[in-house]
Amino acid sequence: MTQEPLSASQAELTPEQPSAPVAQCTDMPYTLDTAPWLILLAAGQGTRLAAAAGCPKQFLTVDSVPLFWLSVRTCSRVARLGGVVFVFPKDTFESSRDLVRELDRLEPCGLNMAFAVGGARRQDSVASGLAVVPQSARFVLVHDAARPFFSPGLVNALLDRLEAGAQAVIPGLAVTDTIKVVNKAGLVCATPDRSTLRAVQTPQGFSRRALAEAHRTLNTPENTVTDDASLMEEAGHEVLVIDGEAGNIKITNPEDLQLLKKKAETGAEDGSSCTKQAAPDQTVPGQAVSGQAGENGSPAAPDNPDTTGCLVPCTGFGYDVHRYGGDRPLVLAGVPIPCDFQVRAHSDGDVLLHALMDALLGLFGQGDIGMLFPDNDPRYDGADSAQLLAEVLQRMRQARVRLTHADVTVVAQKPRLSPHKKAMQESLCRLLGLGPEHVNVKATTEEGLGFTGDLSGIKAYATVCGLKSETI
Ligand code: MG
Repeated sequence: MTQEPLSASQAELTPEQPSAPVAQCTDMPYTLDTAPWLILLAAGQGTRLAAAAGCPKQFLTVDSVPLFWLSVRTCSRVARLGGVVFVFPKDTFESSRDLVRELDRLEPCGLNMAFAVGGARRQDSVASGLAVVPQSARFVLVHDAARPFFSPGLVNALLDRLEAGAQAVIPGLAVTDTIKVVNKAGLVCATPDRSTLRAVQTPQGFSRRALAEAHRTLNTPENTVTDDASLMEEAGHEVLVIDGEAGNIKITNPEDLQLLKKKAETGAEDGSSCTKQAAPDQTVPGQAVSGQAGENGSPAAPDNPDTTGCLVPCTGFGYDVHRYGGDRPLVLAGVPIPCDFQVRAHSDGDVLLHALMDALLGLFGQGDIGMLFPDNDPRYDGADSAQLLAEVLQRMRQARVRLTHADVTVVAQKPRLSPHKKAMQESLCRLLGLGPEHVNVKATTEEGLGFTGDLSGIKAYATVCGLKSETI
């Protein structure tokens, strides 16, 4: 049985900037919404390292996948991220796009995907990617694929500051070396105060509108910049620098190949899951870290061309109850519900998320939350159920299952929940990375019957559907 990945519905988006290179296509399994997107720049030639490796560095194979896919794995762990635009070189665009679809089939990332052709300069590649970011997206992150070791926490920190009102947020590290400004003759002209200097990294986060406007007005042939924050500075925006990550290095030189090998061999976990192993019955494109690629620097083909994959529908069901009369304020889907009722619980007592986590664990066959997060384990005393959900979602992706739909029902005589349903749905959309047409929230009573009827407690049901990538 072979079928096309259901994520491959294609839609053309109208480029926002007519001058930008034309993007080729968009894989849009979920709805357009305000969720942020990440533009993944994988169009550079990286001549120093390419000469040593035999292919552009973003296509180096690490842990059996191309280097650029490590960034996607990290993004897949950020539930509120809506999608990724892959920007690839023109000469390998189609093969690179096909490779992404194959990788996503074998290892669903749970993100919308779009593709764009890179330009002559880095900023032209960004403009090309920006042109296919949905215009409903409030924020956009720009990331160099040559930095594979950033963490989901860094992405969330950037998004937190954007949501708090910043127009531009970038990660940076204090400089430990003394920096000299030199002239063409190699003579020192100045020594800047080191305490004022920061070495900046990607991903960099922006208001999508503000960045698009900066590109429209300032991205000219005469004005070449090395990062997008520079354009935002020129446009007069404040650019906020937050703490970067020491491990978020840029793969630049041939010596860095050794670092990649070491990361893959030692299982270093500092953000990206670069040591994640493919299941033994599955074939992932690429080979071990070796710098090998297909002919002409194109991405490597799958090791075993006879292996055929398919997507198998799967479902999960969850149920949970919490008694009233405890000390936990009522929280449903991560949304505080102001009321006179408090629940008894070891964690935060979010009955809706607990039912949902049980449904998800059923979806990919890994028991229940009592096994995963025991209620006698002090680590989970007062635990934020949204964080527990993030761990369940990570396990789901590792099990090669992509969530496609969730339907939940909360049963409570009191408090009245209908005023909170929209907030609960929006929260679930963020937490699950699904569009609103794929997240349904219902609230009902039991007509005064049973333990909900006599106000002893509250309960929730959840049903989820997904697609499991299997090899036959
Ligand atoms: Mg519970």
